[in-house]
Parts: sequence; C-alpha cells; structure tokens
Amino acid sequence: MSRPRADALVIFGITGDLAHRKIFPSLYAMERRGALDVPIVGIARKEMSLKDLCARARDGIERFASGEVDEVVFSRLVDRLSYVVGDYADLESFRKLRTALGESKHPLHYLAIPPSVFAMVTRNLAAGGCAEGASVVVEKPFGRDLESAKMLNAALHAVFPEDHIYRIDHYLGKEPLLNLTYFRFGNRFLEPIWNREHVRSVQITMAEDFGVEGRGAFYDEAGAIRDVVQNHMLQMVALLAMDPPAAQDDEALRDAKVRVLRSIRPLEAPDVVRGRYRGFLEEAGVHADSLTETWAAARFHIDSWRWAGVPFLVRVGKRMPVTATEVLVDLRTPPQALFEDACAGERNYFRFQFKPFTTISIGARAKKSGEAMVGEQIEMIALHQEPEEMSAYERLIEDAMHGQPGLFARVDEVETAWRIVDPILSPPTPLHEYQPGTWGPPEARQLVAGFGAWHDPLTPVKPLPPEVS
Ligand code: NDP
Repeated sequence: MSRPRADALVIFGITGDLAHRKIFPSLYAMERRGALDVPIVGIARKEMSLKDLCARARDGIERFASGEVDEVVFSRLVDRLSYVVGDYADLESFRKLRTALGESKHPLHYLAIPPSVFAMVTRNLAAGGCAEGASVVVEKPFGRDLESAKMLNAALHAVFPEDHIYRIDHYLGKEPLLNLTYFRFGNRFLEPIWNREHVRSVQITMAEDFGVEGRGAFYDEAGAIRDVVQNHMLQMVALLAMDPPAAQDDEALRDAKVRVLRSIRPLEAPDVVRGRYRGFLEEAGVHADSLTETWAAARFHIDSWRWAGVPFLVRVGKRMPVTATEVLVDLRTPPQALFEDACAGERNYFRFQFKPFTTISIGARAKKSGEAMVGEQIEMIALHQEPEEMSAYERLIEDAMHGQPGLFARVDEVETAWRIVDPILSPPTPLHEYQPGTWGPPEARQLVAGFGAWHDPLTPVKPLPPEVS
C-alpha cells in the first residue's frame, strides 16, 4: 500500500474550537521541533483576515500550548498559513481551495468540522479537484451507531481509499497507551500470566470531575457511551486484551485489535448501567426531556481461549470526585494458602494510571520484618512519569502527514466497536441519577458482583473478600 507523505495540510474548521484548543498548539509544537515543512491552508465560512486568524492561532497557542510563545517559531508558523473563506456546500469554495493548494499533489485534508458535514465535504473535495492523491483525517464522533458509521464509511470510500483515511481517536496517540502496548510486549514476564488462568478481572475507570463545560447541546446528542465508551474505552480494552501483534507495523497492530474486538460479545441490557448527574437537565443546550447519560458502566465479555470468564469492567463519567484514568488488572489469589494471613483479602494486581500522571505499579504481598511469617500489602511502582511531553494531537497530525496509520482507527475497528455497543443504544437502558462529586449510581455495584468492588482511581487498592474457587 502506498501512503504518500503530505505536501500540504488543509484544516477544515480552522475557525472552530478544536483548531483553537488542539490543532494550533500542536502545529506550533511541531514547528518548534522543526517537524513542519508544508504550507497550511485553513478553510471556513467566517469572513476573517489572515491577520485575525493568526491572532486566533496565537491565542490558542498562548492558552493551550506549554511555555512562552517563541516569536521566531510563531512567525515561521504564520508564514505557512493561508485562509480560504467559503461555505462547504458551495463547490466554488473547493475550486478556491484547489487554487490555494498550488502545486500540491498530496494534500492532507483535516476535517475538524461537525460530523453532519463530513459527507458533503468529502463529495465536494472530489468534485472540486482536491481529492486526487490526497488523504483525509476525520474527527470523532464517527457515526452515532453502526448504521450511520457504515454510511459514513461508504461516503468516505466513494472518494478515498481506506489507506488514505485517518480516523482520529486521540486516545491512541497518548503516551501512556503507547506505553501499555510497549510494556505488554516488550517484556517476557507478563505474557504467561495475561490470561484467564491468572487474571480475575480487568477494570478501567475514566473519571472527570467536571460537567459538560458549555458543550451541553453537543453532549446531549452524544452521551457517555457514544462519546467515550464506543471509542476510547473499547480501544483500551483492545490494547489490554489483544494477542501480540505479528510485527511492529501499522497493520499488524490494527489486525490484533480487530481480532479481539471481534470476540467481544455485543452488550446486553444487564451488562450496562447508565447514570446522569443531578443538574444535567439544567445545563444550557440540554433538552428538558433528555435521556442522555453522563455516566456509564459496562461489563464486556470476551469469548476467547485467553479471556473467557474474565470480565472487562469499564466505568466512565462526568462530575465524579476526581479527573483520572486508571486500569486495574486484578490477579487471582494463590491456589494454596501457605501463610495464614495471605488470604486476608489483599491482592496481586497490575495498576496503570494514565491521568493525571503515568504510573505502572504492581500490588503484592511481602513479609513484615519480625519473628512471625506475616505479610503486608505493598505496591511497587515500576514507573512514574509526569504529564506527557508530546500531545496526542501533535503525534497524530505528524503521523497522518507522514502516511503512518497505525494510531488511527481502521474501518473494521470502528464498525466492530459499534457492533458491540449498538444493541444497548436503542431502546435506551434505565437511567439512574447520581449526586455530583460521587462515583456514580450505586446500581453499578451489580456489574462487579462476584469480582469484588469498583476500584476508585487515585485511592489505594482496597482488600477484597477471598476468591471462591
Ligand atoms: P466548532 O463548531 O467549534 O467548529 C466548526 C468549524 O466548522 C468552524 O470552523 C466552522 O466554520 C466550520 N463549518 C461548519 N460548517 C461549515 C460550512 N457549512 N461551511 C464552512 N465551514 C463550516 O466545532 P469543533 O471545533 O468543536 O469540532 C470540530 C470537530 O472536532 C467535530 O467533529 C467534533 O466532534 C470534533 N471534536 C472536537 C473537540 C473539541 O474539543 N472541540 C474534541 C474532540 C473532537 P465557521 O466558524 O466559519 O462557521
């Protein structure tokens, strides 16, 4: 497969929020590293001078990039920038874009725009002569369900071959997730125990201590399952559960993820608990009769020799006590209670903290100093890293420009993930209210019954009743 290196970057939606918060700061960071060498063309409706657009870029960089703005770097970035004003419904906008692209043969079109206009933009890129030799980056959400995702894929494939399409799931560009793959397969000691013989359950919690932050209308359309479970959480489940990729190449990694996603059973209503924080209906932009969840927990079953019977428990939500993402891989208790105190409910585990910092730690028991053969629970921290150097968006934009698709969701990944959540989207499952600042509705306890309790991020791992074997 030939994936060209981009010779121009086009930002659809350059006046929007994503460009302001993520894209400009990422481009600035790339420019600072000397990793940008192509012209950048922005295209949106707003009548705006290039000077005004540059001022908006600077504001985004000042607010969301790290460190002081280096004027030399910023002026290099500005020199690359041009702006085309036009409505995406108007073919003339795309002719103007083609002219602005000059000699470019392999532009990369980044669709940082509402999903409702993805298909129209794709069609007009072709009609306006901007699609040949080009590639496209598509933002999430990728569809609302399996059917709409398939329609969107069909619209993209009508213009672009699959190997020229980069579907963003920015979680895949995050350093701690890359490290998860590295840690799993860069070491020998994990693989022999990474299976149903030794693992009791796997939990992932992605907690946010804030609400919808002015994006009530957007969030009311999406909800926690569509916004983060179908994409970020299932990607994490896949990275945790997949077999070793056959090679270190982009397709091998995606093949390994698709294989495990295929063996995840589609969710049924008893596998899911949905919650809504008290006060959500009063948020601006939220419908008074909304049934959207701001919190969700799900129990995934993986029907494979490696994982049969091991629940993958996922919990996500807004207005929880902390903002943190954590994975707990809980190991079975030793088969023989050689030491009297060893089954006191303490456990062996691997713990991966992804946010607000990255840690990898191992929970174990060790003997307490003294006469008796009595132990205590210890946590060995194998790695502690401060927040990541390179943002996920920076990494992903650079990868797409270099024609490297490994950290983007392939068509079969996206559709398989929708197949898993599709059955519980409609009709919606019951909705339980929870108090802001709590860990969510108590009904979620039923999902972990038989496997202990939910582990709350940033708190010590609690003892569990011994496993009944
Ligand atoms: P905004 O509504 O802030 O921006 C939309 C952009 O699209 C604007 O530049 C707007 O131009 C342009 N646009 C929309 N319709 C047209 C049209 N018909 N013709 C020309 N221009 C048009 O959206 P966001 O930046 O928040 O989101 C963009 C995408 O990124 C969405 O898919 C979203 O889901 C995704 N995303 C956003 C995140 C965020 O933090 N904002 C996070 C993760 C994903 P104009 O201003 O000229 O009207």
